[in-house]
Amino acid sequence: MSAFLGMPAYAPRGVGHLRGDEPFPAAARHALGDAQLRRNLTKATTTIRAKRASVVAELPDWEELRAAGHSIKTATLRDLDQHLERLESEVTANGGVVHWARDAGDANAIVTRLVRATGATEVVKIKSMVTDEIGLNGALAAAGIAAYETDLAELIVQLGHDRPSHILVPAIHRNRAEIRDIFLREMPDVEPGLTDEPAALAEAARRHLRRKFLTATVGISGVNFAIAETGTLCVLESEGNGRMCLTLPQTLITVMGIEKVIPTWADLGVFLQLLPRSSTGERMNPYTSMWTGVTPGDGPQTFHLILVDNGRTAALADPAGRPALHCIRCSACLNVCPVYERTGGHAYGSVYPGPIGAVLSPQLTGIEENASLPYASSLCGACYDACPVKTNIPELLVHLRARHVEEARAAKRVPSAEAITMAAASWVMSSPGRFRAAQRAGRAGRLVSRAGRIGSLPPPLAAWTRTRDAPEPPRQTFRQWWRAERGDLR
Ligand code: SF4
Repeated sequence: MSAFLGMPAYAPRGVGHLRGDEPFPAAARHALGDAQLRRNLTKATTTIRAKRASVVAELPDWEELRAAGHSIKTATLRDLDQHLERLESEVTANGGVVHWARDAGDANAIVTRLVRATGATEVVKIKSMVTDEIGLNGALAAAGIAAYETDLAELIVQLGHDRPSHILVPAIHRNRAEIRDIFLREMPDVEPGLTDEPAALAEAARRHLRRKFLTATVGISGVNFAIAETGTLCVLESEGNGRMCLTLPQTLITVMGIEKVIPTWADLGVFLQLLPRSSTGERMNPYTSMWTGVTPGDGPQTFHLILVDNGRTAALADPAGRPALHCIRCSACLNVCPVYERTGGHAYGSVYPGPIGAVLSPQLTGIEENASLPYASSLCGACYDACPVKTNIPELLVHLRARHVEEARAAKRVPSAEAITMAAASWVMSSPGRFRAAQRAGRAGRLVSRAGRIGSLPPPLAAWTRTRDAPEPPRQTFRQWWRAERGDLR
């Protein structure tokens, strides 16, 4: 195992579902044209934001808790190999089996082999970001194994042959009427008169899932926290479906990103206060399940823990990029982000959308695979203010933009229009004569201005005026004004 973490930062060969299909600007443009999507998103994010703000305001030591969460994560990542080794030995001592997966391909192969060994052709799943990240459902389907999502929102996404668009509320882009239509179309035995009342939709999902819970022999989960000192795994959820998956099947397979380990139970106390308030806006989530290996005669009798790297050691190797691994997947940064609120999660083209996706996905895949994401931000800083572990996302975004530029420069690719413009600006501004000439030329813009603004410029400047006006150049340059007011320039 030490060799696993002692290796040079590992570039994953199978990155699962982390790669964007088209760059963010193009995908965002399509999303912005969808008025229904924007209405759904605005309603959902506004509601979650208000709930979060109200429960956070109840805690006088919220800032101290955030600082504690940040410190625990920073210290844990510094000795990540030791904490993972401790976790492995404790899980093993308690009857579990630990597997190490370098990338999505490894992880999927291990899970598929384990499920096949049980003879099962169906599994029930708890909502899990890392299994989405590695594309587990598709890998299982290719092996003839059906994976049933049991979280209500994930079920909606799965039945709708859709993709999640939010970390916590994967079907945030769907409204009640759309969900009812999906259920009527995809659930074999749903009542034909199903309404779009939330209680009726939840009842339909409950009946549909109950049969799966009672027949499945294998459950698959992710994990919110793994406590190294005892080998205890912890899952937080709201619907009780997780509790069913964790207790009813004979075999439990848990897939975990290696950054989810925390050293002690005392650390868990901090995160149990931070996570529910930041994610669902609750003081405490309804179901918190914990298990340590296997317990004879109680719950699953076979337990496998798969520890997944899939690019995490590469992020760990960059001290400035590493804080992206602090994330506890609360989704608060998505709910406050003005960019996410307008485009939704699909535009990011990555399992991790929003501000955290913009800093995590490019690091997990290598920047070139998701090069547009670090630019998908106004750098307003709302994500930093909301983050329960004080991850400075704007700083990470700027760092990743710089890395992208440096890597492009090192690869000697054709310079971008921006790079050419900046080089030209540098050439002009490095000579007083050239600068004066450029100012004189710029004043020609006054000829085409209307009411103090220029609405349309010729290429390549047209890219600027396509979405905004350019100001009319002033009558006088600064130097001319200075001469007129104060006399000659020295
Ligand atoms: S970066 Fe912070 S706010 Fe965003 S999902 Fe992660 S923990 Fe939550």
